[in-house]
Amino acid sequence: MKIIVAQNAGFCFGVKRAIEIAFENVNSKKGKKIKMLREIIHNAIEVKKIKDAGVKCVNKIDDVKPGDSVIVSAHGITLNEEKILRGKNARIIDTICPYVKRIHNIVKVLNLENYQVVVIGDKEHYEVKGITGHSGQNTIIISSKEDLKNVKFDKKIGIVSQTTQNIELFKELVNYILDAALKQGISEVKIFNTICDATYKRQEETKSIAKQVDIMIIIGGKNSANTKRLYDICKEILNDVYFIESEKELKKTWFKNKNIVGVSAGASTSEYSIKNVVKKIKSYDGEKQ
Ligand code: SF4
Repeated sequence: MKIIVAQNAGFCFGVKRAIEIAFENVNSKKGKKIKMLREIIHNAIEVKKIKDAGVKCVNKIDDVKPGDSVIVSAHGITLNEEKILRGKNARIIDTICPYVKRIHNIVKVLNLENYQVVVIGDKEHYEVKGITGHSGQNTIIISSKEDLKNVKFDKKIGIVSQTTQNIELFKELVNYILDAALKQGISEVKIFNTICDATYKRQEETKSIAKQVDIMIIIGGKNSANTKRLYDICKEILNDVYFIESEKELKKTWFKNKNIVGVSAGASTSEYSIKNVVKKIKSYDGEKQ
């Protein structure tokens, strides 16, 4: 069985940076307790390492006490959460990815210049919640054409995207907004492609691999939006696509009569996890199916 592993799979710059910042602070804490507001990345193994180093993970802002040191996730936090943390005089250990911060700055300016901000992304995702904290009250969040059906634009429009958005969906929705804007007499639409480079390269490479293989294995946290998008992209090309968190979920029967296997992984998946998956797939070779 031939195995093709995506070169761009695994930890991106932003995730590596977040883990480094977390450990730098844990190692220099000088006896002070550190909390982590939600998991800083969608990788159970890395999050466990941080917890094992003495960091307590809290899911609610109420669990942060005055004066606590708090690691905030690479995706960002809402503006309200930031205000509450500052109000509690908490020390914020900021791991927010610079690509996410760039979007905060873009939408802040768009809002100041009286643009109707449109975010192409998942409204439940903390990155999007964080973006809308900077883009004004009338921000529109869309993830499909249906979300735009009853939208009436009344001023110039500024479009940004969640960093991990599917590029094809981004292009499709931008075109749809342009059409709607023309019909509604809007004279100005600014488009910012804020999908991060790491995401774009990973999606393009994964798509290209999916076209060459019989089965595709996607590795990543089940709650990782960028990994789910890789899975969706492959599903449009291939039937046999499996989304797993670790090699423990692999089933030998999936590989029966398969000659070429593709492997890709989300931004929060470590090289170690990818190697373990590849090792287990190789172990099926030659074994009786
Ligand atoms: S996927 Fe992109 S935006 Fe998200 S953490 Fe990684 S580099 Fe930053």
